[in-house]
Amino acid sequence: DITERIDYENELRQLAFGERAEGVAEGKADIDWALRRGELFLVYQPKVSLHDGRTIGTEALMRWRHPQRGLISPNEFIPEAERRGAIEEMTYWAIEKAVTDMKPVLQDMPHFYTAVNLSAQMFNDPGLVAKILCILQRVNFPPDRLVLEITETGIMNNLALCREMLQELMNHGVRIAMDDFGKGYSSLDSLRQLPVAILKIDKNFVDRLEDEKDLIIVKAVIRLAKELNIKVLAEGIETKKQWQQLAALQCDYGQGYYFGKPHATISL
Ligand code: C2E
Ligand code: MG
Ligand code: MG
Ligand code: MG
Repeated sequence: DITERIDYENELRQLAFGERAEGVAEGKADIDWALRRGELFLVYQPKVSLHDGRTIGTEALMRWRHPQRGLISPNEFIPEAERRGAIEEMTYWAIEKAVTDMKPVLQDMPHFYTAVNLSAQMFNDPGLVAKILCILQRVNFPPDRLVLEITETGIMNNLALCREMLQELMNHGVRIAMDDFGKGYSSLDSLRQLPVAILKIDKNFVDRLEDEKDLIIVKAVIRLAKELNIKVLAEGIETKKQWQQLAALQCDYGQGYYFGKPHATISL
């Protein structure tokens, strides 16, 4: 009836207005414009071979320098960008910037690669694969020197579609890394169904290698990956001891503050 309807509309308006007012107060809506205002930039963290500690590539991580709020963590602004639909433009920008920065490095280190994180939302765009390939072509960047890091969260809802797109990217040489492995659920199913080349063991496991159970799980994950012909990278290595432990377990690669923090330039 009519009064109910008005109440409902008021409530909606309040919700919408409240959200907007709050967002503006916190400067959140700014994420829509951050890229165009030049406030976003990338930092690069080295990825190393655990066998000898040598750098094999980098991961590009996004940063937002807000004029009032200062440096904002991607854990804060990426989910906001995803909700607001700003993530697409930001991601294509990040891919183009990362491969452009990596290109001169490849002249001396042709086996290096750069990794860029890909939100699950990106798979809603049927043009995703074409756009990524177009960027690679424009920059004249070898597709097999790009790795896209995905997490299983969100992807599992749309597995068939994601698999098709990832397979197409893989056919062009682009590799897929499964980020934060072990943190979510359905991990094993996604390994079975997606063309994953690299598995990134979540930092939580690396933090707790002292724990017998965690050690057993990490061992098993490394073996599993090897038998599936997938490379393994351990995230968040902060000590020499963790490095030695993981190297002894035949973990292929690593990333973490012990080897290098994210840096504004690619450090070799
Ligand atoms: P992620 O992709 O799993 O990246 C690893 C995070 O762990 C990074 O945080 C990195 O700085 C941090 N890290 C690396 N080594 C260590 C260590 O030894 N100790 C500790 N404590 N931390 C370490 P960051 O840069 O704050 O990024 C957080 C998350 O935000 C990323 O997790 C990723 O999910 C997301 N993200 C960052 N940049 C992008 C982007 O361009 N696009 C998308 N979609 N997501 C991004
Ligand atoms: Mg990542
Ligand atoms: Mg991770
Ligand atoms: Mg993460």
